[in-house]
Amino acid sequence: MKANLEALPLMKGIQKLNTPLTRLEHIGPKRASLMAGKGIRTVLDLLFLTPIRYEDRTCIYPVDRVPDGGPRLVKGTVVYGKEEIFRSSGKRIFRIVVKGAESTLECIWFNYRKPYLRRFASKGTEVVVFGSINKGPGKGQTYHPEINHYDPEICEANLGFYPVYPSIPGISPGLMRSTVGKALNAYLPELVDPVPEEVRKRLSLPPLAEALRNVHFPSRQCPVDELKIRKTAFHKRLLFDRFFLAMLIIAYRKRSRGGKKGPAFQVPSRWEEDMRGFLGFELTNDQKMAARDIAEDLRRASPMNRLVIGDVGCGKTVLAAVAAYICAKNGGQMALMAPTQVLARQHFDFFLGLPEEMDLRPILVTGKLKEAERRDINEKIRKGCYNVIIGTHILAGQSITYSDLGLVVIDEQQRFGVKQRARMDRKGDSPNQLVMTATPIPRTLALAVYGDMDVSVIREYPAAHRPPLTELVRPEKKRVVFQRLVEALSSGQQAFVICPVIEGSEEQDIKSAGDMASRLAQVLSPRFRIGLVHGRMGQEDVDKVMAEFKEGRIDLLVGTSLLEVGVHVPKAQIMVIEHPERFGLAQLHQLRGRVGRGDQRGSCFLMLSEGLPEVSRERLKVLVECSDGFEISEKDLEMRGQGEFFGMRQSGIGELELQELLDESDLLRRARSEAEGLIDSDPELKNPLYGPLRVLLDAVLSKPVDI
Ligand code: ADP
Ligand code: MG
Repeated sequence: MKANLEALPLMKGIQKLNTPLTRLEHIGPKRASLMAGKGIRTVLDLLFLTPIRYEDRTCIYPVDRVPDGGPRLVKGTVVYGKEEIFRSSGKRIFRIVVKGAESTLECIWFNYRKPYLRRFASKGTEVVVFGSINKGPGKGQTYHPEINHYDPEICEANLGFYPVYPSIPGISPGLMRSTVGKALNAYLPELVDPVPEEVRKRLSLPPLAEALRNVHFPSRQCPVDELKIRKTAFHKRLLFDRFFLAMLIIAYRKRSRGGKKGPAFQVPSRWEEDMRGFLGFELTNDQKMAARDIAEDLRRASPMNRLVIGDVGCGKTVLAAVAAYICAKNGGQMALMAPTQVLARQHFDFFLGLPEEMDLRPILVTGKLKEAERRDINEKIRKGCYNVIIGTHILAGQSITYSDLGLVVIDEQQRFGVKQRARMDRKGDSPNQLVMTATPIPRTLALAVYGDMDVSVIREYPAAHRPPLTELVRPEKKRVVFQRLVEALSSGQQAFVICPVIEGSEEQDIKSAGDMASRLAQVLSPRFRIGLVHGRMGQEDVDKVMAEFKEGRIDLLVGTSLLEVGVHVPKAQIMVIEHPERFGLAQLHQLRGRVGRGDQRGSCFLMLSEGLPEVSRERLKVLVECSDGFEISEKDLEMRGQGEFFGMRQSGIGELELQELLDESDLLRRARSEAEGLIDSDPELKNPLYGPLRVLLDAVLSKPVDI
C-alpha cells in the first residue's frame, strides 16, 4: 500500500487535525520544513503516513543463537572494544566484539562518534545490539549496528515491531518514530471516524483510531506474515476507507445523475452519413456501435454517462467528434479534457481540421496564456463564442464558466478519477459525459471503478492500423539496432528511445534516460537533434520538448514511460526500449503504439538485458506474437499472478491503483456494496450518523480542482 497521503484531502474536510507539526515536541521550523519537503505538513499528514516496513524487535537473541540475516536484536558481553587505525591508509574503524557462550559477534563502524561508542567499549559491559548479522563459523559480523546498554527492564519494555518511514534527510528514524508516537497520543482522541459504525461492524474492521495506532505501532502479538506484506486488519481498514469513499462517490453520482432530467438533444437524422463525409472515411463496426450508443444516450433526457474502452489506435477521437457534432447542432458547448498539454493540442489540431459545416468553433485553453488573453478567452467561452473547448484539467478549474456546457469528454481516463468526473457535474447542469480510455481492466474491476457509467468497448482497429513489428534483441545484436536507428534518422524519420529510470540509478547496470540522451548526443549530434523528457521535469518543459518533437525539430526523443499516453507523431517510426522487462506488458503495448502511426509500419525493438531469465523473455514474447491490447493485458495480469515483479506498474485509476484493486478485489467488492446500500437507503446521507461522510462528499464535489 502506498502512503495514505492521497486520501487526505478528503479527510481534511472533517478533521480538526490540521495542526502544524511545530506543535509537536522537538519539531521546530527547520525540521518542520524538512518534513514539508516530503508533503508532511500537519499532524494529520503524519498520522496517515503509513510505514513502508517494520523492523522486528520483538525478541532478543543470545549471541550463540541469533539466526543469519536480520536485522535482529542481540545481547551479549563485550570482550574487546577499540578504535583501530590502518597504518597504510590512515583509515579508522571502531570494533567492538561481543561474546556468547560459544561464539562471538564482531560489530564494526566506519563512521561513528567515538565518545559515544567508547561508552560501550570496556570489557564486561553488557550490551544489546541491533543489526543484520553475517554468520561465519564461530563468529558473526555486523556493520553499523545500533548499540545500547543492556537493561532488562528497559529492553523488555521496548520490544516490538518498529515502523520504518520513508526516509527524510535530516530527520533520524528514531526522531520520526517518537514524533509519530507523540502525535498519536495527543491527537488520536480527536480523530473523527467517517465510516459508520454499522458498516465497520459488518466488515469486522477496527475503528480508524485503533487502525492508525496499530499501523504505526503494531502490537507484539501481531502476525508477522501479515505485517510483512502490510495486510493486517489495521492496514485493511485504511485501504477500505479509500475504496469506500471512491465507491460512495460513484454510487452517489450514479443515483443523482440517474434521477436528473436534462434537455434531450435532437440527433440529426442523417448523422452517420454526415460524419462519413466530414471525416472522409468509414467508421469501423465497433466505432459505429459506440457512436450509436453515444447518439442514443444524447437523445435521452437523462445525462449521458458513457465510458469507451478501446486500445491505442482503435480510433476513439472520432467518437468525440460525433458527440461534438450532435452537441453543437443543439447549441451546446463541449469541453474536451486531455491529461497533457500535448494531447490537448493534438485534439485541437484535429478539431481545427474538421470541415466548417460541422459548426464547430474550437479553442485551446492552456496554462501559459497571458492574463489579458486568458480573460478574453474566458469571456468568449462564457458568452458561447466557442463551442469546443479543449484543454487539460484546467477546464474543470474555477476560472472557466461555460455558457451552456452540454457535454464533457475526458480522454485517456486513467489520469482522471471519479472525483474529477464528479466535479465536472457541477460545471454545468450535470452535463453529458463521455470518457475514453485505453486501459483495459478486467470486467469485475471495471464494474466497481466505473460503476457509475455505461460502457462501450472497441476491439476493432481501422484497416490502416498496423501495430509495429516487434523484435526481441539480444545484447550482442545491439549494434544492428543502432545502425537501423541511424538509417531511419538519416532518411528523415523520427525515433524514440525509452529507458526505465530517469537518472543514473543505484543499480549500476540500468541504463537511464539521462545517460542515454547524453551518450546518444555524443555520437549523433549535431547531425541529429536529441531531446529528453522524463517525469521529474516540469509539465511545461515536457510540453515544450514534446511539441518540438511533434514539429520535427527534434529527431530522436529519449524518455521514460511518461511517453505512453496517446501522442501522435506520424514520422516516428522506430522505438527502442531498454530493459523492457522492467515494464508491464500492457504498458509496453501502449508505448509501442506511439510509432508507426503514419503510412509506414513502425518497428519496436525490445533490448533484452544481459542475463535476463528465460521466464522474462517468454513474457516479452507475448508482444512479438500478439497485437491485441486486450489480450495482452489479460496475459499481463495472468503472469503477474505468478510472482512476476518486474515492471509492475502502479497504474492509477484515478485515486486508486490497479494493483491494489487486483490484490484486494474482495475488499473492493464489499466497499462497493456497502456504499451502494448506504446511498440506496439514504440518498442524501441525511442521517446524522452519516454526517462526516456527507461532509466528505461535499468536499469532493464542490472542491475547486487544484491546478
Ligand atoms: P486512439 O484510440 O488511440 O485515440 P486515434 O483516435 O488517435 O486513436 O486514431 C488513430 C488514427 O486512426 C488516427 O490517425 C485516426 O484518424 C485514424 N482512424 C480512426 N478511425 C478510423 C477509421 N475508421 N478509418 C481509418 N482511419 C481511422
Ligand atoms: Mg487517443
